[in-house]
Parts: sequence; structure tokens; C-alpha cells
Amino acid sequence: MGVGHSSLSSCSVDSLCIIAFTAQPKTSSFSNSNRQKPLFPTKKHSPFAVLKIGTLNCARVAGEMEIGKGIAAAGKPIVDLHGIDDGLIQKIVYDALVWSSLHGLVVGDRNDQRSGKLPGVGMVHAPIALLPTSFPESHWKQACELAPIFNELIDRVSLDGKFLQDSLARTKKVDAFTSRLLDIHSKILEMNKKEEIRLGLHRSDYMLDEKTKLLLQIEFNTISSSFAGLGCLVTDLHRTLLNDYGEDLGLDSKRIPGNTATGQFAEALAKAWTEYNNPRAVAMIVVQTEERNMYDQHWLCTVLKERYNVRTIRKTLAEIDSEGQLLPDGTFLVGGQAVAVVYFRAGYAPTDYPSESEWRARLLMERSSAIKCPSISYHLAGTKKIQQELAKPNVLEKFLESKEDIAKLRKCFAGLWSLVDSDITKKAIEKPELFVMKPQREGGGNNIYGDDVKETLLRLQKEVSEEDAAYILMQRIFPAVSPTFLIRDSICHKEHAISELGVYSAYLRNKESVIMNDQCGYLMRTKVSSSNEGGVAAGFAVLDSIYLT
Ligand code: ADP
Ligand code: MG
Repeated sequence: MGVGHSSLSSCSVDSLCIIAFTAQPKTSSFSNSNRQKPLFPTKKHSPFAVLKIGTLNCARVAGEMEIGKGIAAAGKPIVDLHGIDDGLIQKIVYDALVWSSLHGLVVGDRNDQRSGKLPGVGMVHAPIALLPTSFPESHWKQACELAPIFNELIDRVSLDGKFLQDSLARTKKVDAFTSRLLDIHSKILEMNKKEEIRLGLHRSDYMLDEKTKLLLQIEFNTISSSFAGLGCLVTDLHRTLLNDYGEDLGLDSKRIPGNTATGQFAEALAKAWTEYNNPRAVAMIVVQTEERNMYDQHWLCTVLKERYNVRTIRKTLAEIDSEGQLLPDGTFLVGGQAVAVVYFRAGYAPTDYPSESEWRARLLMERSSAIKCPSISYHLAGTKKIQQELAKPNVLEKFLESKEDIAKLRKCFAGLWSLVDSDITKKAIEKPELFVMKPQREGGGNNIYGDDVKETLLRLQKEVSEEDAAYILMQRIFPAVSPTFLIRDSICHKEHAISELGVYSAYLRNKESVIMNDQCGYLMRTKVSSSNEGGVAAGFAVLDSIYLT
């Protein structure tokens, strides 16, 4: 999925996925008619004008908010947004924008073509929530507790090559991208190559289902889990704002949990590098040709260099193909430099492989002794099909011994089904709004919602093909909707929003020794709750932090 140049409604794991949105069912009676359209695009270069306009905009949306009051109350905003003085909001917005600019909470500006290639030009503050979003402490603890269990599960699943191949065998026939990944995996299995040092930098995403009050997993990301860098900064920003304005707002900055995702991810990369044991080797970040989210990545590399003195190089898959070399002992050289750790921030979407060159690069790295984050096995273990297979009865038991751990994992599983289950497909055709249909893709913008679920299922039933194997069905989760201030392009919007909590985790082992298995900070993403039932909803989402309640 292209990043800097792509449309805002599509996004990659690593891209400004925060622009993604989710179609919400028609339960919300309020309108979000101002979404997506640039509200006041001409005033961009005058911060004061923008702030004024932003406030006007907030006031306008505040009128619309009234209609949805009942729903808003259920979402429990941390402060009464109707009651806050406009002048105070303006001050906080201004401070937030200054802080973001001074502290590197920035992304490439899509209006500047160079911003996806060159650092230091065309930067704009990252889209952010003005204030943190409330989140129950008990669910926060639950999410943190799950992190090391998922880490261990994924590691064990990754070692079961047959399980991965068998589970994805039908998908392979109809999904060319998954098929290519599986081919690489098969080749590695044939070589009988063992990954003794295994590194995972993951993010498990959850939504809190409003009705059942259950924390339910959306997905587990094993490749290119982004925003560890900027997510930490949003936490710092929110803490700073509450230190300054907490009294006015009646909020306590200490209720925002600390976020050390960047430091811990850097630590995991550094420890992996140490295990590789070649002081001259570098860590290599596999990047897309254009990356507007480069600063998120640079944060990680900077900490890696400053704290651990590990140097990084950035290469695209095409560059790796032309500059990469595999020595007989497995050492991987790129441009003559030995690579200890390969950290993927690209390579998860079909568009990352425009030619055979990129696939060659992926295979070459996989064959090498460099530590891959993720390895092809970890990548496959994080696919949606595997998520669905793991949710089947008695499957977790194959991988984990502890009944307690199994119960904890199962508790956060939403309903997940393959399309061969005719009872479920029948239900989904009858009530498509209760389901999400997902192909084997990462990066947002690929899922199917609402009436499109019904239409796609009916089409698949008619056509005699195995295309159904490309998808899974998932229970639709409905988080509480609450009014929130979102800032994008320096304009503050008041919107009805829903949130998704991502919990980072790192896993590193060398043979039998588990060196790291930790939860590592978090990322809250808050999105406009859309009313477009067609699934092509418009809206925007932002980086956020949590306020424990
Ligand atoms: P991707 O790999 O493209 O990020 P996800 O499974 O994370 O795929 O889905 C993308 C987005 O769609 C999520 O961030 C979430 O907002 C929404 N979504 C996914 N699954 C569900 C679900 N079961 N219920 C509600 N929203 C969902
Ligand atoms: Mg996702």
C-alpha cells in the first residue's frame, strides 16, 4: 500500500493508518457530515487563522453533537467537552501544536511531494487527539497481561510449519500474495533451516465492546507494527498538557500510563543484535520507496544508536535485491556491510512487491543467517486466517500448556469463522452489519463491511470457485462512541469517535533461552465513527493515549 502518495482512505500497517476509518452501523443518529472534506483548506499557513477556524468548527459540530447525546454518555468522555471554554481549548491546541513540532511528533506532509523521500522537508504535526481517551484500568491491565502470552503463542505457532501450510492451503489457491509468502516458507522448510534467534516486535489491537464490556482482539500484527515512536510522544504530549491544564480540566496527568514502546523496541533490536554477535554488523530497516511515516521509524533508529550504539541502514526491497549478497556461511551483506538484524517496515502488502526483484530480496534475506523481524514464519503466523484457525476449539491447546493462559487468550477472541461454515455465512447474509469480512491483507482499507458483506457472500455462493478461502468472517465489535477533539492539519475538530487500543510487545529468544518477553507500551488510535453504511466511509483517525478510569 503506497503511503505518501496514496489516498487517505487506504493505509498500510506502517503508513499513516491513522487516517483509516471504520464504517459504523446506522445506530448513531447524529451526523458527521463534515468528515473527510478538508474543512477549511485555504487557511493552512496562518496558525492563528486556523485556530480560530478550528474553534468555529468545533462549535458547529457541537451543535450536531446534541442529537447523539445518549450515545456520547455511554462513551464516557474524560471531561464534559460541552462545558469547556473555547478560549481554553484554543490555548491547549496551540500548545499541543508547538509541543509536537518541537518534539518530533511529526509526519511527512502529503502536500509536499518530497516529504516521503527526504527527511527534514515538508513536515507536519501528526494527527492527534487533543486529550487522552478514557479507558478502564481493569481492561488495560488485561491487555498488558495478554502480551507475553501472545508472544509465546506466536513463537510456537511459527515453529509449526505444517500447521501454517495446512491452515493456509486453501487460501494459497486463490490469493497470489499469500501464495508467494507460502512459497518462501516452503523453501525455508525444505532447506531445514532453523531460526535459532527469533525476534518479534508485535502489536495486538483491541476494541472494547460496549455492550458486553469485553476487550476483544481485532488482530495481532507481527510485521511492521508501526507508531511505537510517535505513540510514545503522544503520551508525553498528553501528560504535559494535563500537567499544564489538568487543574482547569479536572484531570490528573498521572492517570495516563507511561509509554516506553520506543525504548523497549530499541532494546529488543539491540539485544538481538548482541545475540548475533558481530560488532561490525548493522541493523537494516526495510522501507518502502516513499514513507511519510519515516519519523516514527527514525525515532527507533535514533534510540538504537544513542543508547546502544547500533547503526542502522535503510533499504528498499529493490535495493536489497541489487546490493544484497549471501556468503556461504549465511552472512548477509548489503552494500558490503554485514547485516545482523533485518527489521521490516515494508513487505507486508502486494504493492511492496511490484516485480520479481522484491520477491528475490525477500527470499535472499530469509535464507540468510540475519535475524529477521519478522521471519517468514512469524509473518504467516500473524495472518488473519491463522488468527481464525487459532480461535477454533482445541487449537490453542496444541501450542500452550497452561489452561489459565489459554482461558485468558480465549476470553479476548471475537467470533471468527471461515466461510465454509454455512450457518455463519447464512447469518452474515441476513445480518451483515454484525460481521466484518477480511481478506489476507495488512494495512487497512481491505475489509468489507455492511451491505458489501452480503453482496460479496452472495456473489461467492453463486460463483463456483474457491475464492471464499481468501476471506474470513469476524464478529463486528462495537466500541462506545464519545465526543472527542481531534487535531489534524492544525485544525481542531470535535467529532464522535471510537478507539482501538494497540499493545506493543517484544519477544526475543536464542534457542532455549527466552531473552525478552515483555509488554512494551501502547498506542491508542481514535477514529471518527462513521455513519456510511456502505463501508466506504469517510473520516479520519488520530494518535491518542489513554486516561485510566
Ligand atoms: P489491517 O491489517 O488492515 O489493519 P484490521 O483487522 O486491523 O486489518 O482492520 C482494520 C480496521 O478495521 C481496524 O483498525 C478496526 O478499526 C476495523 N475492524 C477490524 N475488525 C473489526 C471488527 N471485528 N469489528 C469492528 N471493527 C473492526
Ligand atoms: Mg490493523
